[in-house]
Amino acid sequence: IQFNDPEGFNPLNPLKRIQSEIHAYAVSKQQEIDQLKKTENFRREFIADISHELKTPIFSAQGFVHTLLDGAIEDKKVRQKFLKKAAKSLDGLDILVQDLLTLSQMETGQIKMQYERFNVFAVVNEVFEQLEGEAEKKEIDMGFTEFSNNQVFVVADQQRIYQVMLNLISNAIKYTRKQGSVRVGFEKRKKEVLITVSDNGRGIPDEDIKRIFERFYRVEKSRSKDKGGTGLGLAIVKHVLEAHDTRIEVQSKVEEGSTFSFALPTA
Ligand code: ADP
Repeated sequence: IQFNDPEGFNPLNPLKRIQSEIHAYAVSKQQEIDQLKKTENFRREFIADISHELKTPIFSAQGFVHTLLDGAIEDKKVRQKFLKKAAKSLDGLDILVQDLLTLSQMETGQIKMQYERFNVFAVVNEVFEQLEGEAEKKEIDMGFTEFSNNQVFVVADQQRIYQVMLNLISNAIKYTRKQGSVRVGFEKRKKEVLITVSDNGRGIPDEDIKRIFERFYRVEKSRSKDKGGTGLGLAIVKHVLEAHDTRIEVQSKVEEGSTFSFALPTA
């Protein structure tokens, strides 16, 4: 008779059995500790990141206000200019705090998706209207792909999908040079619609593609920051789409452009 089983259990040797149970317990506790350490590191990094990101607009607004108080306020032209700059920094701060709130609510599952049937073509048109000014400034040609239908019904959270489209299209405009082109396309499939947002902008290097959905990750830190983004746009996109049980794909080539795509159910 062979009593030794692979887990080390031997009914003739209770001590061995206890030893093996203790070992299993120690392993599971170590795993718990590792997980806690990971969460704690993540939290620490997140707080450091947030503090750093908040400091930039606060320092900038502070600088302008103090310069005004130190005398610049006397000159009407300078006053106007500095107040505008301070207001712009505070607007940026407001957007950053809103994005942070959205992201943390998404991550902790506090936001419940409100599913309804709507025409995503109409939603994208509204986004185009909102971004018209930005596109015009850079003379970017923004529109739909040639064969896009204007009746594209999906079942999703309309407000959240608006935000996804806003983030993707505003990135497409931001990271495309003057007179570039931005196109949104719809491809109907059996039970879903594939939605694409393409640009012919600067593109994303292969090694960065995996990381652009991390919060505050920017491909060229200072260049991307100059564009005024919060670094949270794609993290929000990823979370919203995950909550819809779908995921975002990216195809990109440096200096040629990028295409972001995802599918939504039609019923
Ligand atoms: P940001 O607020 O900096 O735009 P995002 O989370 O929206 O933050 O995007 C993360 C980074 O991914 C950007 O900083 C940029 O480097 C890169 N990126 C996003 N969209 C595009 C695009 N369409 N073309 C090129 N790079 C992009």
